[in-house]
Amino acid sequence: SATGPARQVAIEIVDETGSTNADLLARAPGLAGPVLLVARSQTAGRGRAGRSWQSAPDASLTFSLAWKFDRALPQLVGLPLAAGVAIADALHACGVDARLKWPNDVLLDERKLAGILIETAAARDGIWAIIGIGINLALPPALAERIGATAAALPQLAAAPDDLLAALLNALARALTEFGDAGLAPFTQRWNALHAWAGQQVRVLDHGQVRQQGAAVGIDDSGRLLIDSADGRVAVLSGDVSLRRT
Ligand code: ATP
Repeated sequence: SATGPARQVAIEIVDETGSTNADLLARAPGLAGPVLLVARSQTAGRGRAGRSWQSAPDASLTFSLAWKFDRALPQLVGLPLAAGVAIADALHACGVDARLKWPNDVLLDERKLAGILIETAAARDGIWAIIGIGINLALPPALAERIGATAAALPQLAAAPDDLLAALLNALARALTEFGDAGLAPFTQRWNALHAWAGQQVRVLDHGQVRQQGAAVGIDDSGRLLIDSADGRVAVLSGDVSLRRT
C-alpha cells in the first residue's frame, strides 16, 4: 500500500469450531497482530442480532479476520460496507458478478451468497474489529433446507476455494488499511456501483416494524442508506435494521 507498511497476517486453519468470530473475539485483547482464522467446519456461525449463519463442511468458506484500528468505535460504522466492497471485488476477480445489499450482505442473482458480521473488542490503544465472513461454495440439500430459498452459491469452478480465500484476504487487507487511513469515503462510489437494489422500492424493518420505505438511492460517506420516501430523502443508520424489497 502507498499509505504505510503492509501488515503481516497470521493464518490459522482449524478443522472445526463453533464460531470463528467468537474465537477471535475472545483472543482479541491479547493478539500481537492481525489473524485470519479459517474453519473447515463451523457449527454455531453467527449473524447480526443473535441470528445464525448456516454452513456445512466443504460447502462453505467460513473465516474471520482480526484487525486493529486506531480509531474510536463510531468511526467504524462504515466497516461492513468497506469489507463488502473488498469481498465483491475479490469475487469479481474470480469471475463472479457479486452485488451488495445494505448493510452487510453480498448477493448473487438477488440471493444471498455471503454474509459479513463485524464484532469489536476494545484494546488499550484502539479497537479490534473481528470481520467474520461466510460464503456459500455450494448448497447441498441439507444446507439449503436449513437456510431456505434465499441463498445463492458460487457457480461451480468459479475458483478453487484456496485461490478465492487468497484473493479475499488480499482484497480485505488492502481495504482495511485504506479504511483505517481514510474511513469509508474512498469506498462510497464503488459501493454504490455495486449496489444490488439501486432505484428499487425497499422497506426498512426495525424489529419487524416498517421504519421507512421508498426508493433506495445508495449510501452516503458515513454508510447510511439514502432512501427517497414520500417525505423526501431520508438517511437510515444500519443499527439493527433489515432491508426488504417491496
Ligand atoms: P437480513 O437479510 O434480514 O437483513 P442480516 O443481513 O442481518 O439479515 P445476517 O445476520 O448477516 O443477516 O445473517 C443471518 C441471516 O442470514 C439468517 O437469519 C438467515 O436468514 C440467513 N442465512 C443464514 N445462513 C445463510 C447462508 N449460508 N446463506 C445465505 N443466507 C444465510
